[in-house]
Amino acid sequence: MPGYPIQEVISQLDAVVIQPGSDFEVHTLLTDSRKLFPPAGTLFIALKGPNHNGHQFIEDLADRGVLAFVVEEDLPIYPQGVTIIKVGNTRQALQRLAAFHRQHFDIPLVGVTGSNGKTIVKEWLYSLCRDTFRTVRSPLSYNSQVGVPLSLWRLKEDTELGIIEAGISLPGEMERLEKMIRPTIGIFTHLGAAHDENFSSRDAKLREKVKLFGSVRTMIYNRDDDRIHRALKEVLPEDAEIWNWSEYHPEARVSVEREDLPNGGCKVALHWDGRSMTTICPFREPALVEDALHAMVTAIALGVPTEGIAEKVNHLESVPMRMELKLAANGSLLIHDYYNSDVESLKIALDFLERQHNRLPKWVILSDVLESGKDPTVLYGDLSKWLARRGVEKLIGIGPEIHAHQDLFPSYSEFYTSTDAFLEDLHPDQLSNKAILLKGSRPFRFERIARKLEESIHQTVLEIDLEAIMHNLRYFRNRIAPTTRLMVMMKAFGYGSGTFQVANILEAAGVDYLAVAFTNEGVELRKAGIHLPIMVLNPEPESFDILIQHQLEPELYSFRILDAFARKLEERAIFEYPVHLKIETGMHRLGFEEKLWVTLGDRLKGSRRMKVASVLSHLAASDDPEQRDFTLGQITQFDRATRILEQTLGYSFLRHILNSSGISEYPEAQLDMVRLGIGLYGVSNQHWERPNLRTVMRLRTKISQIKELDPGESVGYGRAFIAERPTRIATLPIGYADGLFRSLGNGVGEVAIHGHRAPIVGRVCMDMCMVDVSDIHAEEGDMAEIFGDIIRVEEIARKADTIPYEILTHVSQRVQRIYTTE
Ligand SMILES: *Cc1c(COP(=O)(O)O)cnc(C)c1O
Repeated sequence: MPGYPIQEVISQLDAVVIQPGSDFEVHTLLTDSRKLFPPAGTLFIALKGPNHNGHQFIEDLADRGVLAFVVEEDLPIYPQGVTIIKVGNTRQALQRLAAFHRQHFDIPLVGVTGSNGKTIVKEWLYSLCRDTFRTVRSPLSYNSQVGVPLSLWRLKEDTELGIIEAGISLPGEMERLEKMIRPTIGIFTHLGAAHDENFSSRDAKLREKVKLFGSVRTMIYNRDDDRIHRALKEVLPEDAEIWNWSEYHPEARVSVEREDLPNGGCKVALHWDGRSMTTICPFREPALVEDALHAMVTAIALGVPTEGIAEKVNHLESVPMRMELKLAANGSLLIHDYYNSDVESLKIALDFLERQHNRLPKWVILSDVLESGKDPTVLYGDLSKWLARRGVEKLIGIGPEIHAHQDLFPSYSEFYTSTDAFLEDLHPDQLSNKAILLKGSRPFRFERIARKLEESIHQTVLEIDLEAIMHNLRYFRNRIAPTTRLMVMMKAFGYGSGTFQVANILEAAGVDYLAVAFTNEGVELRKAGIHLPIMVLNPEPESFDILIQHQLEPELYSFRILDAFARKLEERAIFEYPVHLKIETGMHRLGFEEKLWVTLGDRLKGSRRMKVASVLSHLAASDDPEQRDFTLGQITQFDRATRILEQTLGYSFLRHILNSSGISEYPEAQLDMVRLGIGLYGVSNQHWERPNLRTVMRLRTKISQIKELDPGESVGYGRAFIAERPTRIATLPIGYADGLFRSLGNGVGEVAIHGHRAPIVGRVCMDMCMVDVSDIHAEEGDMAEIFGDIIRVEEIARKADTIPYEILTHVSQRVQRIYTTE
């Protein structure tokens, strides 16, 4: 996206520049210093909250390359060479910039508000629309005075539809949100009845909320709630197009019929303007069906084809993405809401807890609520009442502040000053057969609690540390020039890590390109909502239609494939489709050989169907210093190829040849882009590099049983191990079908238990293996690390006589992936 020159940004603010710096284009607004990436093009806005002051991070961010800062406080000294822009109120400055950015878009923009269901409606509407329009939505539940501007800033040049969620907690806030969002389409999701103290305050809140819709052109709401209907009447522009729906009201534009099905879902038929549509919802809880109806009716009003809507409704997931719903210890249900513990999002989560599973007793584990802007006595007093009204049976409060205010909660609540204190006390059995909502502010790291509870059911897990991925990404970013682009290789299920979660953070982190091996892998990424350009390394001609449909970009490596693709483009009357050319320079795998380069250029020059987005080649031995001459030869040959192509084609394109080891060893050949693969996962062929990288994947399991053997007794198939002394053997529920190589048996490989190594003895079975724990402490139920920080993937690869790539990509799909962020 082209950015705004910093001078233009400054001119939008009532600002004094107290220290001028260099000119650059602003692409990213940053308010959370932990999320810096990449520094180029970032403007940091120092916000202040009761427990947080962004001004503290300015020096550090300047060190890391941020060039400009918006502040509201004076600092004793400012870092040299950066622009410091002073305003009266940084939060308002952020809002003004969002409003300024918003003005550039003449597209349908949906504003969603209400007391419940906002996030779910937003996510579902997104699912229904994303194949029809390039859609940008608020991330997570960014619906506040800070979240909304950050969401709006995500609108990009090519965005065709925006979906923005708006939540308020104080009077006056909605007007400010409205000024920024300027929605053209409004959705009022639901008005809660139980939550407000008295009618007059509820009414006031409703009147406040509908202010979002003062200038919409289209409005979607449930006609069966008269309060909403009346309140909207007062604010909606006269010519607004109304799309209200109802099961009972004869006047509603869309009439709804609904019938429960034996499988737990329901059939829904909609009739409007002489048309109809029928679909099956995979759930029947009234609140969720209501949310789905809002999304469906909005999609219809937007002109999304109804067959597509009906099809997609079948697959709506009843869990919004920001929350994870899992089975945990002993029949419990765990809802982990990872983000923020602001009050509004706590309400969404509780709402969700209540709607989903009202059979199980409801427990809430809650941390201190940070940055609520409220007096703690008021805040926790309100929360306590609120939890009681929601029928929460027990609260476990964690954190110094909630601990200090425990008198405000019922006596059967429990309090701990820290997550560690709670974990020490925790026995997963205490939490059996409950519906548990885990809601913690980030510093409390509640994922550790989740993990402990999940461990009780998942014996073997591959844990993926997303924070470590970000660290490694920053490391490689810093090794290349700011102008060099970064493509991340996501083939083979992201080297075993799982694709969607990783791609999602890479997109948010500003990576330029993704690459996958096959078309279907790219389709999966698109379905998951990834918008980044995606190159397909090995596109099969049979898949060209789907490839084009999902805007995936093929790597063309021979005239056979090039001609086939050209015919497809011809057939579909497409022009200037981006393609990538693979050049043969010594790998002898895929690619155009030297004698074909001139013809290739000539052939493409005449074609208006394709546009060469990039030209690439792959190094055969970038990790081997002994092959340095060969590698340099490949680089020279590639250089020759790109010159010839540039000359014959008459335009330029991105050139790239380096993989992870190449980035480390041949920085001079980084050209326009590099292709990062295994390095992102913290694995390096270069010894010197390892200390700079963090371990991303850890494969762990849990001891099933421990046996005491007498000398002479044997272990496993073929009696391959015979005890020579009294021996303790632990059985682990992981075998070669999970990705534990069979060649690691018979004492070759080891696992780590409590930080100590234990050899794998006897033969590795399909689903199990045995380890000798005679010399270390180990009990049934203890964790064993197969690989991670103690036993590195590189070590296992060496012992199994293979390479780390094979170890990572062999962790079977039946092993549960767990994603953590610090
Ligand atoms: C897999 C792959 C890469 C990445 O290799 P790493 O060694 O994992 O960094 C780069 N380019 C191509 C063409 C690849 O197939």
